[in-house]
Order: sequence, then structure tokens, then C-alpha cells
Amino acid sequence: VVERPASVVKELVENALDAGAARIDVRLEGGGIKRIVVADDGAGIARDDLALALTRHATSKIATLAELESVTSLGFRGEALAAIAAVAAVTITSRTPQSDLAYVIASDGDAGVGAAAGSVGTRVEVADLFFRTPARRKFLRAEATELGHCLTQIERVAAAHPRVAFTVSHGGRALLQLAAATARERALKLLPAQFADAHREVQAEAPGLRVLGWAGLPTAARARADAQYFYVNGRYVRDKVLAHAVRAAYADVLHGGAQPAYCLFLEIDPTRIDVNVHPTKIEVRLRDASAVHQFVSHAVQAALAQTLRGARPQAAAVRSLAELAAARGAYAPAPWQAPLSVAQPVAAYFDFLAAAPAMPAAPAADAEPQPALPPLGFAIAQLAGIYVLAHNNAGLVIVDMHAAHERIVYEKLKRQLDAQAIPQQRLLIPQVFAADATDVATAEEHADTLARIGLDLAPASPTQLVLRALPALLAAADGAALARAVLRELREFGGARVLTEHRNELLATLACRAAVRANRRLTLDEMNALLREMEATERADQCNHGRPTWVQVSIADLDKLFLRGR
Ligand code: ADP
Ligand code: MG
Repeated sequence: VVERPASVVKELVENALDAGAARIDVRLEGGGIKRIVVADDGAGIARDDLALALTRHATSKIATLAELESVTSLGFRGEALAAIAAVAAVTITSRTPQSDLAYVIASDGDAGVGAAAGSVGTRVEVADLFFRTPARRKFLRAEATELGHCLTQIERVAAAHPRVAFTVSHGGRALLQLAAATARERALKLLPAQFADAHREVQAEAPGLRVLGWAGLPTAARARADAQYFYVNGRYVRDKVLAHAVRAAYADVLHGGAQPAYCLFLEIDPTRIDVNVHPTKIEVRLRDASAVHQFVSHAVQAALAQTLRGARPQAAAVRSLAELAAARGAYAPAPWQAPLSVAQPVAAYFDFLAAAPAMPAAPAADAEPQPALPPLGFAIAQLAGIYVLAHNNAGLVIVDMHAAHERIVYEKLKRQLDAQAIPQQRLLIPQVFAADATDVATAEEHADTLARIGLDLAPASPTQLVLRALPALLAAADGAALARAVLRELREFGGARVLTEHRNELLATLACRAAVRANRRLTLDEMNALLREMEATERADQCNHGRPTWVQVSIADLDKLFLRGR
């Protein structure tokens, strides 16, 4: 059970949580090898139970075998403290609310239980881990590595217990300070900073299943899988099926090795899973893995696909988080964050920018409310041939027009391909272009696949191809370049697979070719049409390469630039 300092930290922190602690302080020295102190303000251990706490199978947590089936408290084996005492010097000081005194017991003293000073709660000190077993001590990595593992363990537990305050220090230096918070606030504190502005709420229910949490948008993706919190019934797990379910939900928006960031809580009827298959492992055995996989994947996918217009109503989300609070007693309703923070009406600023008369007065608190603008607002101008500027209620919107258009074309093509109805545009004058022998052969061999994606492309001679029709959505693209790109993918992935496993890459290639290029001058009407399409398009926030398609610059951001106090 006791592999390294982090496993000790985990057991002690879980004991503190089981005891109903509202705050838990963890003090570490020497990466936890030298000393681990975990102090809580929980229920404490009565004097007579204190001597037992260090003996094997002394647990206060299971009454009957039936309880074992659906055990919800974190520990249930009654072995952890005994196992830790076997490899380190353990001192427990504890006081119950009924007692005026604290009592103390030490694993390596035979003085028994003594009286001590102390407040209500329990303080467990573990010193010199593995001092009796130098062979195991040798396997411990450097202090910094052990400390990192300790912190990771605490963060995993802390994310699932937002109401509990945590402090962690190492060698007297504060490392982590988490005040009691809502589940969402806690998750945002533990996840990377970019996550705060780039996530969607996940929320779904099915009979016996519920998932809640927050999934990072591709702009918050990471190079490593180091910001992935997944809980089953409040317990952190690392499960292949569940991790795959989440990853699959990102298939459309995250290409390559990028790793999504998320914090998700899955609630399952406890009789449908085996947790704690092994005491130190963080695995679950799902009795109905494929149904759960599908459920989780759909929930995350739906969250990522929310359009700006079709965002779920605020009330529903808050209601179900409150339900969860009632069910688990652990969460407070987390405020639902709209994808766009709509600040007070500020159109006056932009009238000023457009007309440039005198300095505008700061808007009075009781100023006439301006009519609400669409989520992405109205276009003002095009900048550097690349960006569309627009104003909405929150301030300034900056759109990467190529990336945004590419996303729109991609989503439309995907829907058309799924419906097996790609509207075609026949060319008035078929386009004949030079091609090498491989391209000609590929076009001949994969005529069927080409037809299914709306391309009428055929050999015209041993060194020429002729394009007669292409998907209507792609009519603006350079036909020859588009055809060559598609042939390249066909060769690379093979005809059948290009439409299944590699469908998204193919569509991305097509969409990229068709999207407006830099330096295309757009009229205001065209720009506004683009904004309206973005609002109606699923996953419109991200281009196919995981970059954002637009950003919001709020009036507060602008005020900061101009050092304007409010
Ligand atoms: P388990 O947690 O599986 O019961 P442990 O060996 O971790 O086994 O702990 C043994 C017992 O000691 C617990 O069942 C509990 O009664 C008591 N205990 C341990 N830590 C605490 C704590 N921080 N606060 C209150 N009681 C505790
Ligand atoms: Mg325990």
C-alpha cells in the first residue's frame, strides 16, 4: 500500500475527509520522505480507539458486508495507518468534540496513549519514511519528484472536495492554498490558467448515470495529459475506457497529439461498478463499459458543440448542480458561465469611435439600456486583410476570418457528407489540368470515393485530369489545387478509410482550400453574414487546428490599456 510519500499523503488526506474535516493542512519536508504532517478539524478519534487506529483491520467504516458492496467512504480496509506505521514513525494526536483534552499515541513508543494539548481534530505525523527498510528508500526518486507526486495526489482529492479548504507547504514554504469554494471555482483553480476563459460546462443525465463538469476548449489543450481530472462517484480514477470516451469527443476539434484539459464528475449507481479493485490503484471496473463510454462521449461532445446562439439555458444547469449537492452533500451550485460575458451596453463607445466627436462621458449608471447586440455583434471593419473587427455588448470582437470561415465550411461539409447529400456545382467550362501518372491512376481507381465527396474528376489523357463538378460549398476554391490535395490524401490513406477514420482530416483539407484567403476584401454585409454563420455553427470557436477563431476584448480590457479607472 505504501509505495512512496504520495501514497501516505493520499491515505492521510482521505482519512481526514472521511472524518468530515472542513480544512486540511499538509506540511511536507524533504519531499515527504523526511516528514509528512496532515492536520484536520474533523471528528477526531476517541481516547480508547486511538491505540487501535495503528493496528491492522481497525476500521470504523464498515458495519456489514452489504455496505462493502456500495462503500462510498474513501477508505474501507482499515490497513493504511498500520501499514504506514510499519515503515515509518507515526504519531497521532487527536481530540473529539466531547473531550477537553487531546490524546497522543506514537507507533515506536510503548508508552501507550498519553494526554496532550490540541484542538478538536486529528494530526498525523509520519517521519522518516522507510527508515527501517533502506532498500525501499533507495527506490525513491529525488525529493522534487516525490514532492510533485504528493502535490498531484492532493490536487486530485481537492478537486472533488471543493468545500474543504486545503493548505500545502514544503519546508515551511506555502505551495498551495485553496479556500472553500464551489466545484467550478475549485476546478478553475487547479486547472491551467488558459482553461478559465476556454471551457464549456458538461452536463448530462441518463438512467443511473450523470456527468457534470467542465471541458476545456481546444485553445486550452496541452502538450501532455497533465490537466485531466476524472471522478467516478467522487473518486479520482484513471480509466482507459473513460479517458478514451473523452478523447473521442474531441476528435472533431483536436487533431494530432494535443491533450484536452477537463474536470469531469461521473455519478453511477455504485452497484454497477467495482472501485478499489486494488487498494493503491485508481481503476474502476465498469459493468457496462460501452454504454458508459457512449454516454460520456456524447455529453462532452454536446458541450463542445454548443453554438453561441444555442447555449443551454442557465437555469437548467444550476438546478442540476444543486441536485448533485443534495445527492452528494459535497457541491454548491456552481454559477453557469455563459460563453460570452455580456457586460453593460457600451455601443456609445463605438459610436464615438466611428464619428469621433468630443470625448464621451462615462456612461451613467442609469443610462438608457442599449438594444442587445447579437453574440458576435456587428462588423466595423476589416484589418490587415486577415481580421474582422466587430462590436458586441461586451466590447470588441476580433475574428480570424479564414479560420472562422474554414470552420463553417467544415461543419457544413460534414453534415452534408453524413446525409450523403453533397450539393454539387457543375463547372460551365470543365477545368483541364496537367497531372502526373500517379494522380491520374489515383483518380481512376478512386472514382467512387471522389463522387461521394462531390468531385467529378476523371482522367482526360495520360497526363491530364478534368474536373467537371465540385461540392457547391467549395466552388470558390482553386479546383486544380483542391483536386491534387484530395488525391494526395486518397493515396495516403486508401479509398475507403479516407471517408471513415480519416474523414475529418479530409474535410479539413477541403474546408481549408475553400475558406476565404487573407487579403480578400470583404464588405460589411459579407462580414456580418460571416458573424451570423459563426453564431449558428457548432464548435465555431475553434478552427480545425485547435486555434481560436475569434477573441473577445472587453471594455474592461480596453480600459486597462488606456489606464482608465472605473
Ligand atoms: P480506514 O481509513 O480504511 O478505516 P485507516 O488505517 O486509514 O483505515 O484508519 C484507521 C481508523 O482510524 C479509521 O477507520 C478511523 O476510525 C481512524 N482515523 C484515521 N485517521 C483519522 C482522522 N484523520 N480523523 C478521525 N479518525 C481517523
Ligand atoms: Mg484510511
